[in-house]
Amino acid sequence: MDWDKLMSAVAGHAATYRNDVANRFVGPHADIGKLRQAFGGAVPERPTDAEAVIAELVQAAEDGLVAMTGPRYFGFVTGSSVPAAAAADMLTSAWDQNSMSYVMSPASSVAEETAARWLLELLRLPPTASVGLVTGATVANFTGLAAARHHVLAEAGWDVEADGLYGAPEVHVVVGADRHASVDLALRYLGLGSRRVHVVPADEQGRMRADALPGVLAECGGPTIVCAQAGNVGSGAIDPMAEICAAVHERSGQPPAWVHVDGAFGLWAAASPALRNLCTGVDQADSWAVDAHKWLNVPYDTGIAIVRHPQAHVAATWQAAAYLLDGGQEERNGGWYVPESSRRARGFPVWAAIRELGRSGLVEMIERCCRHARRFAEVLGSAPGVEVLNDVVLNQVLVHFHDPAGGDSDAYTRAVIERVQRDGTCWLGGTQWQGQEAMRISVSAWTTTDADVDRSAEAILRAAQPPAAPA
Ligand SMILES: *Cc1c(COP(=O)(O)O)cnc(C)c1O
Repeated sequence: MDWDKLMSAVAGHAATYRNDVANRFVGPHADIGKLRQAFGGAVPERPTDAEAVIAELVQAAEDGLVAMTGPRYFGFVTGSSVPAAAAADMLTSAWDQNSMSYVMSPASSVAEETAARWLLELLRLPPTASVGLVTGATVANFTGLAAARHHVLAEAGWDVEADGLYGAPEVHVVVGADRHASVDLALRYLGLGSRRVHVVPADEQGRMRADALPGVLAECGGPTIVCAQAGNVGSGAIDPMAEICAAVHERSGQPPAWVHVDGAFGLWAAASPALRNLCTGVDQADSWAVDAHKWLNVPYDTGIAIVRHPQAHVAATWQAAAYLLDGGQEERNGGWYVPESSRRARGFPVWAAIRELGRSGLVEMIERCCRHARRFAEVLGSAPGVEVLNDVVLNQVLVHFHDPAGGDSDAYTRAVIERVQRDGTCWLGGTQWQGQEAMRISVSAWTTTDADVDRSAEAILRAAQPPAAPA
């Protein structure tokens, strides 16, 4: 086996791709038939040389790749990957370390331990909190809520890990009306039910209304979990954390409830001196979910589950918790803090991203993305017939387009989005916002420059012109 040849070829392909990604058509534009032909066929009966497989893969994938690491991909909430993290991720595959425990991979364990410590400091969360590296914010939400379920039921004298939910005291779950769908998914996985929730109304930016929370909490006797959100996936708005945490932790005559924060991208605001006033009080919560593949710009897939109470965290995700924690073992076993056991060494790319950016680079990247979002709002919002629907407090912009011919503006907005996507200068998607159709622009990549914003805004405004009548 000639590893030099194989890995050099891969490095070459990777470098070519990343060098050129800014010039690619942005967005999916594949011919599915062609892709199926390229990847398809019968089960290979005989082995193929690894280099030939890679050459075939590169060729097959080429037309179906989306330039989401590039500077003008504004779809969903999608980070690029900073160079050291992308390269560290390639090494992570080459090293192929099962990172469940220290004994399996001491290097992975200690890289993860350091990454965890750095993350807590950068996000200004309690240094004694426990950290699990998972696949994304969905599983981080699941992990935080599993710890919450353990804790509030243990307070009520119930061992949910051993005895399940049949016959358990009822757990009340409070959510904001404009929560992310992954919270519902986590509640489903946990047997808490996505419909069985108390919903606090949201304000016009999608924030949980703190004034309505005490009334909802008063309906919840006994074990209670409150799910707050830092970073509404439409508007970027952050729930009023200080008020929520105070209301939940100080409810009278009841055991303290648990606050879980879905902060997939918005929690990164805590790292920035200019933005952290948006999430004042978020450090008072009990658990947090945040993504590294969004605003830290680490390659997929990495999310972070953080829990103030390590005992509850480990009790929820690792059977032998109490015994191992009390056993005085000081090495980190990453598998204790996640729902998985065998797992990728996610600590390497996270460590590499923070090492490369440094605190100043991270803060600068987050603030720059927000500045770009404000620039989009300024340029688009000052054009006739274009309306910015949200307060642009973070990196998200919601835009609505009015038909100059007086037609339905929702249909017109959908048509503008489609024209932008077909044009390929940039890519973004649509969403519904307060009953209206909206274009959603998310600026989450280190690669985006002022020029990319201007070029993309131009493309959007071009698409907002009524199409020329067919000849
Ligand atoms: C993206 C996002 C999630 C889900 O994160 P994944 O990384 O896709 O699992 C959850 N909550 C919010 C607010 C998000 O923006």
